[in-house]
Amino acid sequence: MKSIRTKSVMIQNLCVPCFNHCRYCLLSWDGKTVGTEWERSVRLAERYIQELKEKRPELTVSFSFGYSMEHPELRKAIQTLRRLGSPMAEFLQCDGLAMRDEEQCRALMRLFREERIRNLNFTVYGLKDYHDRFAGRRGDFDFLFRMMRAAREVGIPFRTGIPITRENIKDADELTGILKRAGSAAITLFIPHEEGRGKSLNPIRLRQEDLSFLSSASLRMFNRNLYRTEADWLRSPPGDMDTGRMILLSLRADTIDLYEKRDALSVLEETEALDEAYYAAFPGFEELAKEYGDYAGDSLYRIRDLHHHYRSLFAAEHCLSVYDVTDERLSGSRRYY
Ligand code: SF4
Repeated sequence: MKSIRTKSVMIQNLCVPCFNHCRYCLLSWDGKTVGTEWERSVRLAERYIQELKEKRPELTVSFSFGYSMEHPELRKAIQTLRRLGSPMAEFLQCDGLAMRDEEQCRALMRLFREERIRNLNFTVYGLKDYHDRFAGRRGDFDFLFRMMRAAREVGIPFRTGIPITRENIKDADELTGILKRAGSAAITLFIPHEEGRGKSLNPIRLRQEDLSFLSSASLRMFNRNLYRTEADWLRSPPGDMDTGRMILLSLRADTIDLYEKRDALSVLEETEALDEAYYAAFPGFEELAKEYGDYAGDSLYRIRDLHHHYRSLFAAEHCLSVYDVTDERLSGSRRYY
């Protein structure tokens, strides 16, 4: 079997609550944080980063936190991220923050500017009512636009993403117009993954024919090379599926004691072994496709999502019980495609 090269390590602490309850949450946010005490996680991350720099210098190692950015000491948290060399110290995802009025949004953006945040990202799920329902919070749509206005005032550029499904595609043109007028530097249309609660969106996965609802301007915001129909992928599967992996070390209330007693390299190698055991428990893509593939399927997928979809069907059919490295609340991995 081909061995997969680890390219990066992300150490995360999911200790900060989110104020949304999105329908497709990758992290299956249910109101309870799974992370550990902040200072403890920072101390451990610092040690692990140092040890991995010495033992595995080829790796990029970073530290992040979630679920949302609503850290009780946000300024200090950003400074810590910067000290640890985290990309999150420059680029923030702004969904799921606590509700703020205009003035509070301005204060937040001033703080971001003082802390040298260079880019922001907002995910918008549809027009106002649809977005609020999808995000599980009334007023969230207006709140995002208050933050966008405040970001413009202080001069922080922002980008936006729209997850598109059969349900909201008809509103995509109108929404991209609204986002352009709000000053979004770039808008990306993407198809939501099937991981975490994203599985619930499977019945409304976009199909080829739905793209006819998009104007040519909106179509340019959608990467047709990345998203192809199932039939297209099965006709010409990509040669090299797994080109590398990111190892995720999740510092959780239930693992921190153990991780603190160990060195970073042994934790990393153990997690790499979990990744390999997980993928070895499944047949390869082509075999899965023979069993579960729809050779006339016109639903649109990224290859990574289609592979995940087949693995889920296989796991359900065979009642497979294997440690799930794709559950991003746990230590695990993300393979690149
Ligand atoms: S904002 Fe992000 S973390 Fe929060 S519920 Fe939505 S998808 Fe999950």
